[in-house]
Amino acid sequence: MTNEQWGQLKSDLQHSVGKNNYKSWIEPLELDNVSDGVATFTVPTSFMGNYISQNFGDLILYRVGLITPKVRRIHFQASQGKAEASAPARQSKPATASRASLTDGQIPAAPLDDRFTFDTFVVGKPNELAHAAAKRVAEGGPVTFNPLFLYGGVGLGKTHLMHAIAWELRQKRRDLNVVYLSAEQFMYRFVQALRDRKMMDFKEMFRSVDVLMVDDVQFIAGKDSTQEEFFHTFNALVDQNKQIVISADRAPGEIENLEDRIKSRLQCGLVVDLHPTDYELRLGILQSKSDRYSADYPGLHMSDGVLEFLAQRISTNVRVLEGALTRLYAFASLVGHEITLELAQDCLADILRASDRKISIDEIQRQVSDHYNIRLSDMIGPKRVRTFARPRQVAMFLCKQMTSRSLPEIGRRFGGRDHTTVMHGVRRIDELRQQDAQIAEDLEMLRRSLEG
Ligand code: ADP
Ligand code: MG
Repeated sequence: MTNEQWGQLKSDLQHSVGKNNYKSWIEPLELDNVSDGVATFTVPTSFMGNYISQNFGDLILYRVGLITPKVRRIHFQASQGKAEASAPARQSKPATASRASLTDGQIPAAPLDDRFTFDTFVVGKPNELAHAAAKRVAEGGPVTFNPLFLYGGVGLGKTHLMHAIAWELRQKRRDLNVVYLSAEQFMYRFVQALRDRKMMDFKEMFRSVDVLMVDDVQFIAGKDSTQEEFFHTFNALVDQNKQIVISADRAPGEIENLEDRIKSRLQCGLVVDLHPTDYELRLGILQSKSDRYSADYPGLHMSDGVLEFLAQRISTNVRVLEGALTRLYAFASLVGHEITLELAQDCLADILRASDRKISIDEIQRQVSDHYNIRLSDMIGPKRVRTFARPRQVAMFLCKQMTSRSLPEIGRRFGGRDHTTVMHGVRRIDELRQQDAQIAEDLEMLRRSLEG
């Protein structure tokens, strides 16, 4: 790879990472050299190197690999000298390509992230099923369900689980040929094989796999010949009773522009979804990550309540949550400051703002009337029978909790009611939820779907 190629690739990365990330992290990267399959980049500080490696390492490695396939690893070196460069071991680990035996230039396996193991995967209600199924596949025993289809929104741990399966199988069953790759890479290899007239090799290669994992399969929707080839590969492997694991951002039936026969094949095995995280899971993940960080940054203290604050406020995906924690530690270590709530609020202002999705009174009223199966006009209208009054109070309660509107304002939006009426309703629900499990559950469900 020449400096010029790197320059081009670098500016292409802007589309993938967004303007701000590009400016802060990618643009400063200088290519130093490529040797022995390692591309080395210079960064201003080791902190930046760690951060880039952790957040963009895979992406950069993948893109570099498209230009210079012999590059198997990337490394970031701080220009401030060696001492700086040997930052905490865990983070300075460069993104590593999959084991040499699998990437001898033959099987198009993608790099496995060595942080994505079962050890580091935190299990909670939203992901316990997916975790159990992944564990089962990782035992490498007889195939019980095929394929395992994992789906869920972005950042919920699909890729993590697939890598964990691969790591464990590679340990337990060295005899098995385990291949993990993204659907995009599958397509890329397929197109390459077509171009180089190597379709026989391509087919041969995939048919010799024991465990095939294809990530983000929604990517091949609408790409007809890739779909077709994928379908054949899939069938050939299933016929040989080889395990397949697939992930996508939605259920098989909901992927548009995917052939029906493929959809129905995908549904034949075990379809499991990863649900959005709940507070407990987020806190668990933060605790586990911060335990590992504390080992890397001894002497850096974190005040009580910071993790709880993050788990509460950042309810989008786990990647964002992790990014927040990484930044927090990096920043605190840079300024040599204890991690306090104020520091978190300061240093994460942009992330916190972005996750503060504004929930409107309208939205709450709509969701609540849907939930209780009453008309919106009845919720807002004057009728005082219990069937309307209770949902109305629930909606008022949620408006008070989830928006920053004042009581008089909420009253106005509920058919011009007085603020004391709203206050009464809010209090009533607050009491009821302590005594009535049904109400508590309704509230929880509504809150979740409004946040989601
Ligand atoms: P997806 O592939 O579903 O978009 P990833 O598997 O890439 O999501 O996960 C995003 C990030 O969140 C990764 O760094 C991953 O390690 C982390 N993550 C997600 N779920 C968990 C979990 N349950 N425990 C620990 N880390 C998790
Ligand atoms: Mg993924």
